Amino acid sequence: MMLDDKERLRYSRHLLLKEVGEQGQLKLKNAHVAVIGCGGLGCPALFYLAASGIGSLTFVDDDQVELSNLQRQILYKVSHIGQAKSKAASKILASLNNSISLNPICTKLTADNIDTLLANADIVLDCSDNFKTRYLLNHYCFVQQKVLISGAAIATSGQVMCFDFRSDSPCYACIFPKVQKEENNNCDNFGVLSPLLGVIGAQQALLATNTVLGHHSGSYFASTEGLTLKQSVWKVSKNPECKVCAHEEKQ
Ligand SMILES: [Zn+2]
Repeated sequence: MMLDDKERLRYSRHLLLKEVGEQGQLKLKNAHVAVIGCGGLGCPALFYLAASGIGSLTFVDDDQVELSNLQRQILYKVSHIGQAKSKAASKILASLNNSISLNPICTKLTADNIDTLLANADIVLDCSDNFKTRYLLNHYCFVQQKVLISGAAIATSGQVMCFDFRSDSPCYACIFPKVQKEENNNCDNFGVLSPLLGVIGAQQALLATNTVLGHHSGSYFASTEGLTLKQSVWKVSKNPECKVCAHEEKQ
């Protein structure tokens, strides 16, 4: 397989890099990335993944665009208010790059539909805003040995985490053990600094492209302070008591 002339021009700034080149661009073209949640993190992540030439993008969200989303959810315009986010996102992404395959899904991700929706994805980006979805994705990606790249941002701080379940890796529940009462500390309740979501969402997209290109493997956890731009990278270890990765078998 080769790139055509239009693709060589479109991706010329990638082809100039020895870390990407034509072979790397073909790897991006053959990759399938799923993004769960088309909100503040999903929008910038999807934008960069589509622009980078990820060949297949599946994105899942059951919400509609509201005026209060436009402060941070950068794919949407005033004219999209009232439309399904997945469909509105798909229109914008198609207008950016019509040579990739877009699979917008307007539904809530559940234990019943997760395998149907994500079976073909190599890498899953958790851009959701609730713990139920986070734990569901963590368990699914662990069992299916996929790469999970999880992002979160609230108020003035954000985090990005990568769990590479293709090999032995800690999981989301090792860091944030499931508690009985699942409170949703999300942007609806606490607010969030708009450009911080761009920083975290772009880091998720960067981890995804680096993983596809073979420049990243293993687990990763970094936090960013929005007011100071200070970034801290943490080493993550497996919790031997973890209810997910220490007790269940991979497939
Ligand atoms: Zn674990």
